Amino acid sequence: MRRKLVAGNWKMNGLTASLAEVEALIAAHPAPGCEVLLCPPATLISAMAARAAGRIAVGGQDCHMAAAGAHTGDISAAMLRDAGASHVILGHSERRADHAETNAMVRAKAEAALSEGLVALICVGETEAERDAGETLAVIGRQLAESTPDAATGANTVIAYEPVWAIGTGRTPTLEQIAEVHDFLRAELAARFGAEGAAFRLLYGGSVKPGNAKEIFATSNVDGALVGGASLKAADFGAIIAALAG
Ligand code: PEP
Repeated sequence: MRRKLVAGNWKMNGLTASLAEVEALIAAHPAPGCEVLLCPPATLISAMAARAAGRIAVGGQDCHMAAAGAHTGDISAAMLRDAGASHVILGHSERRADHAETNAMVRAKAEAALSEGLVALICVGETEAERDAGETLAVIGRQLAESTPDAATGANTVIAYEPVWAIGTGRTPTLEQIAEVHDFLRAELAARFGAEGAAFRLLYGGSVKPGNAKEIFATSNVDGALVGGASLKAADFGAIIAALAG
């Protein structure tokens, strides 16, 4: 059985005062029937991990592929771990677009994360133009194959399907479109990793809200969600968790 997972991505949002949301979230959902992960900006990882005290997991939003060195402004996997992170989001479409991250770079970062004992949450997803051109599965298949390390297992790697056009737009694919991609991801993982392919959690991400979470979670091969905007407010994120745990 794959343990359900709801992950929140705060992106470049949040100051120390925002940590009150974490307290509210934990107070509202002391023992959810699923795993909960919050990925704040790097500046808040340490303080959030201290407050969470293991009740929810805390993760980074990126790491460098090198262990250390002359990379001004970057953060290594070991630094994330040292700050209290247990997970790291890699290959988010905003980083692929803003920082020209390639699949090969995402894979190298994932290898660095796994070697530090972090769980890598690898994002894949098509643009609207790619979907319109009928290239969705080809694009996602390539991203998955090239971004996922050979050492990936269901325990150390999570795959998030995030259609670029659904992120922060309020638009979501149909449930049939989500199922098509998630079933495809499952088949690709099984083809590459054999029986272990069934152990990877597959998250859907892109405009998940309290109002649509339940039907998305009931969709084939959806094991949880990666949530952006709605993870910033404990009430909304808590409602999404409740929809999965409930
Ligand atoms: C995201 O950026 O990972 C995301 C899913 O954002 P949102 O939920 O705001 O669409």
